[in-house]
Amino acid sequence: MNPHPPVAVPWPPEGGIHLNVTFYGVRGSTPCPSAANMRYGGNTACVALEVPGEDPIVLDLGTGLRYWGQTQPCDGTFAGTCLLTHIHWDHVQGLPFFVPVDRVGARLDVYGPSQQGETLEHAFNELMRPPYFPVRASDLRGTITFHDLDAGDAAIANAKVQVRSVPHCGPTNGYRIAWDGVTVAYISDHQAPMDGSFAVAESVMELCDGADLLIHDAQYTPAEFAERAHWGHCSVDYAVHVAKEAGVTQLALFHHDPSHSDEKVDAMLAGARSAVAGSSVEEVVAAYEGLTISFDR
Ligand SMILES: [Zn+2]
Ligand SMILES: [Zn+2]
Repeated sequence: MNPHPPVAVPWPPEGGIHLNVTFYGVRGSTPCPSAANMRYGGNTACVALEVPGEDPIVLDLGTGLRYWGQTQPCDGTFAGTCLLTHIHWDHVQGLPFFVPVDRVGARLDVYGPSQQGETLEHAFNELMRPPYFPVRASDLRGTITFHDLDAGDAAIANAKVQVRSVPHCGPTNGYRIAWDGVTVAYISDHQAPMDGSFAVAESVMELCDGADLLIHDAQYTPAEFAERAHWGHCSVDYAVHVAKEAGVTQLALFHHDPSHSDEKVDAMLAGARSAVAGSSVEEVVAAYEGLTISFDR
């Protein structure tokens, strides 16, 4: 059951909207759709960035990718780019179910961190192959090209992309995407200091600095973080701290814990909203499947 059918964004949009950020998967760690979390959704990380007339950029390939695929052409004309943070399951499991790239002529370029001496392509070939899964990436009929992308600056699709390492478990990228006058920072999985302090890596501050929108890991309450300080994530309070320190305009809480009900996420959002009072952060949302944040020209 998918409680969140494909998003009906008018396309091409009317009235000068030039960048849409749409969330198709907002959950961390594992898919977990259930009656208790139907409003926010149970699919894992996948966020689409779309500008009319240009090839889209998708952030991560979690299970939400399947639903984004339902909005894309399935006639072999699909062309797009993925900026992948890392290869944990919750960020890659949607790829075999992305129908638009299973068509002759379709093209998907996947950029992500190299894997400690191995290429990103090698890592994908290991995780998507029999006996673990019957389909290899190369079995899909379109062309999927993997590109190693470590810290640096790059022109990708029509965007200017800054790439920096983010503290997590294993090689992990964060991205700052400047596209058509809008800046979006994406820090999906972020290990906060395990001692509970609020120090932030310089690399992360660089990505977030003054962004129009920061999409940030907000998996735990402070009490949960104390119990799971070494699990690779952070508290909602830490996400708010990063947003305020970096002077971002809007914060989207992301990578919700699979055990959190809608009411729990609501409560975390309410706390985050009161915590940004008086700062640069004008708005905080808790990302949910189907949410589109539009930037007007
Ligand atoms: Zn994750
Ligand atoms: Zn991860």
